[in-house]
Amino acid sequence: MILVAGSVNIDFAVQVQALPSPGETVLGGPYRVSPGGKGANQAVASARAGARVCFVGCVGTDDHGQQLRQALDAEGIDTAYLRSVADQTGAAFVTVGADGENAIAVSSGANRALQASDLPELGGVTHLILQLESPRDAICAFAQAAHRAGVHITLNAAPAQALDDGLLRLVDLLIVNAGELETLCGPQVGRDLESQLKVMAGRGPHAIVVTLGADGAAVWANGQFHRTAAFNVPVVDTTGAGDTFVGVLVASLPHMDLASAAQRASAAAALTCTRSGAQISMPHSPAIEQLLT
Ligand code: ATP
Repeated sequence: MILVAGSVNIDFAVQVQALPSPGETVLGGPYRVSPGGKGANQAVASARAGARVCFVGCVGTDDHGQQLRQALDAEGIDTAYLRSVADQTGAAFVTVGADGENAIAVSSGANRALQASDLPELGGVTHLILQLESPRDAICAFAQAAHRAGVHITLNAAPAQALDDGLLRLVDLLIVNAGELETLCGPQVGRDLESQLKVMAGRGPHAIVVTLGADGAAVWANGQFHRTAAFNVPVVDTTGAGDTFVGVLVASLPHMDLASAAQRASAAAALTCTRSGAQISMPHSPAIEQLLT
């Protein structure tokens, strides 16, 4: 079973011609309200790819919290450890440009309440997925407990933040985009991808995957560097592509090697780009297999 611990948000999204510059107001189309949050998105992506998933997180006691719980339940995800707290449910304000690029501001709300004691017993859990939209203390405590229990730990170090090696040393698989990798490495490392990967591998993770948008992904494992091309699809909205990639890759790990799992994740993420929204645009297993054949 995959345990996903992290954020769960309600997304408010509006399509605009071009993303606003600082200080600028742009007019857009109708706004859409849908379930999101990196943690919940990754849980949904994993479940639709065929994995058994349990989600750990916090929602508010408002209507959005209820809706988000129901949305996860409807995916067959175990929400017994989704705690309701007296706060607003987390919310994300997403602007999507005509080229499919996005800009996002997040109000964390109830997500800030996640704490070490929220972690369930790890019996039956083989993989843990963490991101950085939740309190760092809780993330570190979850990683320590999972490491002690021999659970495979994937850290999606998003949104971009510097991290100390204490957490990185516990991580089996680090997944980042190019900007997040640069933030983790710091300015002294330079921008060459292979050099950045070598530096990060020296800080703890056994394997690293860097997602590169339309340029696909790079995989670093056992001292080997490998590139996966992106799938050529008509792009409508890239929101949720990164989360789809993470969720599907980890869902695939029990069944194939890392390079093949990255390929399957790329196919799933490409399909997410062909439709609007985050969770609502994530593919189910048959569509992924079809794109792969
Ligand atoms: P986001 O924050 O928008 O969810 P991200 O920055 O975390 O995304 P990206 O590197 O942009 O992650 O995308 C993740 C994966 O999605 C890529 O590795 C690739 O496989 C797929 N992908 C993204 N953009 C495209 C695209 N334009 N065409 C095909 N596949 C894409």
